[in-house]
Amino acid sequence: MKIELAARIRELPPYLFADIDRKKSELRKQGRDLIDLGIGDPDLPTPAHIVQAMQAAAAEPRYHRYPSYEGMPAFRQAAVDWYASRFNVRGLDADKECCALIGSKEGIAHFPVAILNPGDLVLVPDPGYPVYATWTRFVGGEVYTVPLRRENGFLPDLKAIPADVAKRAKMMWINYPNNPTAALATRDFYKEVVDFAKRFDVIIASDVAYSEIYYDVEPPPSFLEVDGAKDVGIEFQSLSKTYNMTGWRIGFAVGNAALVGGLGKVKTNTDSGAFEAVQAAAVAALSSSQACVEESRKIYRERRGVLCGGLRAAGFEVLEPKATFYVLVACPRGYSSIEFASKLLVDAGVVATPATGFGACGEGFVRLTLCADRARMAEAAERVKNVKL
Ligand code: PLP
Repeated sequence: MKIELAARIRELPPYLFADIDRKKSELRKQGRDLIDLGIGDPDLPTPAHIVQAMQAAAAEPRYHRYPSYEGMPAFRQAAVDWYASRFNVRGLDADKECCALIGSKEGIAHFPVAILNPGDLVLVPDPGYPVYATWTRFVGGEVYTVPLRRENGFLPDLKAIPADVAKRAKMMWINYPNNPTAALATRDFYKEVVDFAKRFDVIIASDVAYSEIYYDVEPPPSFLEVDGAKDVGIEFQSLSKTYNMTGWRIGFAVGNAALVGGLGKVKTNTDSGAFEAVQAAAVAALSSSQACVEESRKIYRERRGVLCGGLRAAGFEVLEPKATFYVLVACPRGYSSIEFASKLLVDAGVVATPATGFGACGEGFVRLTLCADRARMAEAAERVKNVKL
């Protein structure tokens, strides 16, 4: 029998990095020590008090059964309380305006299933987290690419979106602090987004997975801080990066009750919720002292200094991040993102991600992460001096 996969799978964008992957495995076979700064996955451990809460909860038979679809009341309450204390976003209804997620990626993927009909148009940032575009297409929606340009601080230029496109658009994704550019949004920007949403009837989906990873700036705002945001939008929050919990798969969505309810309907028909022992640990994370998060920020800040200093000393143009653990490096003249990443790999043994992996507008940059210890950062900072252009 000839197996033919669905068009939505066959039509996924081509994988761009096969050549780099081949070089990586060749170098590893030759015994080269590669410093992998390609993946945004914290190397720091989950704080001990969260692990202990999980250990205690895992021993409790009441948590061994199917979880409730929308999340344990205690978890949803801890999430909305955290929104009140962290963002001063008060009055979120834990029952109707909050839903637990199996990592924010799960919610980001499922949200379009609740919202889009075939042919609906979605405004998707480029560069951006690939799941926004992929799931728009999976459900038959159409992607309209909104470029994030360096000269605009990697914010979308809402005025440049043609009125006929804005009128047709059903929803828009925004993501600040941003992956891969590390850009921040201001409350004024969010106000503009709410005005745009109301003017054109566009649903806003805000992804704030990196809201707690920031340096030398005021804590980044939530989209929901702005008046009227809850009328038009939903926000996706994650415990993954904040508490070094990427493997645990826990996040939540908060915002407009109809949007949260729609997402909940998809989940009811898809998964059976997040393991309740993980939710109990997440309650401990959200409701205990946040000193562990400050500790992570301190570590990333130090690493940032080491890596960015080394890159600059080697003559590269670095966009030093004020948030996230991503560092964009401009490609030297004459090099594409893929060529420059390949050069870093072969000459320095440093693995970078070409920013074109996040969309065509990523051309001209590679992305490095701060997810390796200080000694490895220092080693990477030293090795980039070997890159021969
Ligand atoms: N949003 C952005 C911008 C990300 O970069 C990621 C993961 O890298 C996620 C969401 C998903 O994170 P998680 O599913 O671990 O919550």
